[in-house]
Amino acid sequence: MAGLTGLEDATENLNIGPLVSLNDFKECFAHDGKYGDNAQNKWKSKTILIYKLGDNPFRKLENVPNMFGQVVSPGKHAEIVLIEKIQTEIENRRMRSQHPIHVKVEIYISYSPCHDCSNTIVNFIEKCNREWCIFDIKMNFSNFYKHYECLRNSAGQHVPVHNEGLRKLLLKRVMLQPVTGKEKWENFLSANGVPVQKQADRLAIASSQERITREVDDNNLFLKIYNSVFH
Ligand SMILES: [Zn+2]
Repeated sequence: MAGLTGLEDATENLNIGPLVSLNDFKECFAHDGKYGDNAQNKWKSKTILIYKLGDNPFRKLENVPNMFGQVVSPGKHAEIVLIEKIQTEIENRRMRSQHPIHVKVEIYISYSPCHDCSNTIVNFIEKCNREWCIFDIKMNFSNFYKHYECLRNSAGQHVPVHNEGLRKLLLKRVMLQPVTGKEKWENFLSANGVPVQKQADRLAIASSQERITREVDDNNLFLKIYNSVFH
């Protein structure tokens, strides 16, 4: 039940238009909020994720905040629920075949994974590799999750904790990609079930002047994180 887990699996809605509503697109995916500033309530506490597992169509997962705006079940982030689903898929395939397994997943998510979720994904990839399973995951995210939030490490330095999680994912060959620019938004909308001829309204939302300005910063930040791993 959605109220108990704080999660809603909307897979039943596959055939009735976009997985992510226009309102959720506007408020969760393509908003133009400034990082660290929630005076206008642009940073929502819910995370929405759509995912494509193997040859299946895209499906949606979202965590639903309670009446105080908190996620009902902290720790049960959308990414964790996805990993549980993938684990089940792997177990099902294992029962049918003795061969090494190759699992491919692509996701679009409204926030980049937090540090804890990144760790869980990294551990999952290591477990897959130990168990003769290749796990390819591409994560497209439309907003950085608190990239400015720092924790003090054992050497007393302030480390941007969630960016550190993204670095760990890159090291494990997770394909990370901020959703920025027209082409990537078109890809997202197609994945989301919005036909090309009906994408104009949403593309206009995703290309507000404030959003475009922020996406330049997002690309630069991502490049910095990427280069810190691969250069
Ligand atoms: Zn998380």
